[in-house]
Amino acid sequence: MGITGAAGLLAAWETGLAEAPAGRALLLHRTARPDLDAAALPVLPVGEREADLFALRRALFGDRMQVRLECAACGSDMEFDLDAGEFARTLGGSRDPGRSVVRVRLDGWDVEFRLPGGADLTAAARAADPRAALLARCLVRARHDGAEVSAEHLPAAVRRRIAEEAEAADPGADVTLNVNCPECGEATRAELDIASYLWTELDSWARDLLLDVHLLATSYGWSEPEILALSPLRRRYYLELCADV
Ligand SMILES: [Zn+2]
Repeated sequence: MGITGAAGLLAAWETGLAEAPAGRALLLHRTARPDLDAAALPVLPVGEREADLFALRRALFGDRMQVRLECAACGSDMEFDLDAGEFARTLGGSRDPGRSVVRVRLDGWDVEFRLPGGADLTAAARAADPRAALLARCLVRARHDGAEVSAEHLPAAVRRRIAEEAEAADPGADVTLNVNCPECGEATRAELDIASYLWTELDSWARDLLLDVHLLATSYGWSEPEILALSPLRRRYYLELCADV
């Protein structure tokens, strides 16, 4: 388990049950990066969070991730494996660490834009125009021929360039899979949302663990903290003994 013990993970799961997906992503990120100040996490560039979550997935459940997709063309079920370690390495390595602001200079415009963090995406998603809201939130400074300009007055070409530069600086922010269907040969594109993938796994892990606690407590009279303090291997062993009786 490495990153945190069973009790800590179970506590994170319990808190996350009452949260929306954005809150769960933040909880998972906190679990992945106990070394960072909790206040810094929501503003870290999203691609960095994704790399951290792939690393957490690897530490908790191993490298091999099973993914199911439906072919967009013929509807057949596609099942395949992904390597969490490879994602953690490529996403973590493709960023320039510490780089959180991109600068665009185009046709007399000089614009600085902060790479969006989880908090920015959550807030922007609630706005009537999420793209405009994200731009306004993350715009550090925009000047045209030396004069300050606000986000809503940026021309389309400059906005487009900002989006391109931000994507290039934080490529892990959107993990897109491109899978060829073995039945019909057509390609299907799908986003891989590691936060919700990992949450689903954590949820079933937690429910299994609670069942184990119930069985062991019933058989041996041990308390929950005592059972959670056991290594997974010992827990498994005692459960097998219970089943044999
Ligand atoms: Zn197909």
